[in-house]
Amino acid sequence: MNLFIKGGAWCLEKVVDWFARIEMQLGGSPHSHMPIWVEGAPKYYGPQTDEKTREEIVKFCDKYITTRFPSLDEDAELHNKIKEVQTHSRNHSKSCLKCYKTLCRFGFPRPVSRRTFICEPIKVDNDDEKQCCKKIKEILTEINATMNTLEKEKMLSWSDFDNLLIKYNWTYEEYEYALRVVHTRTIIIHRREPNARWVNQYNEELLRAWDANMDIQFVLDPYACAKYLMSYTTKPEREMSLLLKATHKECHEGNMSVREEMKKLTGTFFNHRQVSVQEAICRATKMPLTYSSRGFVFVPAHSNSCKFLKPPNILKQTDPEDDNIYMSNLADKYFDRPADSEFDICMADFASEYEILSINKNTKNPKTPIKRLQTLNFTMKKRCNRNTIIRYPYFNKETDRENYFENLLCLYLPIRSRDDLKKPYELFYEIGEIFDTRQQCIRKVKDIVLENQKKI
Ligand SMILES: [Zn+2]
Repeated sequence: MNLFIKGGAWCLEKVVDWFARIEMQLGGSPHSHMPIWVEGAPKYYGPQTDEKTREEIVKFCDKYITTRFPSLDEDAELHNKIKEVQTHSRNHSKSCLKCYKTLCRFGFPRPVSRRTFICEPIKVDNDDEKQCCKKIKEILTEINATMNTLEKEKMLSWSDFDNLLIKYNWTYEEYEYALRVVHTRTIIIHRREPNARWVNQYNEELLRAWDANMDIQFVLDPYACAKYLMSYTTKPEREMSLLLKATHKECHEGNMSVREEMKKLTGTFFNHRQVSVQEAICRATKMPLTYSSRGFVFVPAHSNSCKFLKPPNILKQTDPEDDNIYMSNLADKYFDRPADSEFDICMADFASEYEILSINKNTKNPKTPIKRLQTLNFTMKKRCNRNTIIRYPYFNKETDRENYFENLLCLYLPIRSRDDLKKPYELFYEIGEIFDTRQQCIRKVKDIVLENQKKI
């Protein structure tokens, strides 16, 4: 699958970035949640999105995503595949009815539609409109119910659907309006034939190759997508913390001493974690559970960041008076970078664009030149592929301002030593000026910081 999306088949054209998290269903079967960044994909900007962009989004969706359900004669292979893996059960499952009892939380059967469009909800303010909406919802429910009944006898066609519209004296435009009334959040409604109400949208090439269920969606709201992913990527930890909480409560009620409670919590922590057989196999064989097109690196930008002690055997040989007892971290390496103006970059760029290598590592025919750090036993080399994602400590801008601004300045202001920053940091950020060696002029600290921050 990896190779199929990224190279060769080109079924989603140029995929520039991806992230995948493998999750095990309750039954244990692995499945993956995967945002994919496609080069040149149009972006939705909410209700103010202009007409041209909307058309591009629809065109983009129709190019890669479909709900088509070909007949057995038309395409037996695809027909069977869809029937087997890509059709929602008409009886629904336990999990899909769990939120609303009778309504399927995946929205099946999905609405029939003559065209793909961005379905934006309609806000109702006054009572008249509310009444009108209620009527519209009732009719739509009736139309659906009739289609459900009809479907048991025959394959639904457009004429069945059109007859229903006539029955309720609705134009097709009024039907689309009704869809906007019943949906409470913006979604893409895909073009869908009446015979495909139970088919989840798919990419044809992918489905043929993947031979398993997929739910491919155009992302309208990147924030909602990130939120959804976060809830999945942190799922086991959340379950775990609930368990720890329960243990804590139990201890508290039992009037346990702190020592006893810690012992009990440790026991819970070590012995409890739901793992399916498939997940256990994945973990035991070190099969990755996440995949990503980019690596990430932690940047200890703040002067008070954690440091690791040197290993005991080295410390033993060190003079007891010597206070050089810590291993160098990324910030130390940044301040030790070569003196050439080429490296007049900020710590964030240093971490994101460069790879730090041990001096003992022999790299044959490196694609980018290897440079020695000034004093530490390390070398640095520009990353050949993508820049890596940086992570850094979080300080609250409102309640912890000095630390917040120190961290910000360390990350985004090109400096050679921490002494280049002046206290108080907030004032230095707001009104400070430094000589920009790249542009050979005095510039405002704030401008340089914002410029570098924007890039990241
Ligand atoms: Zn369902």
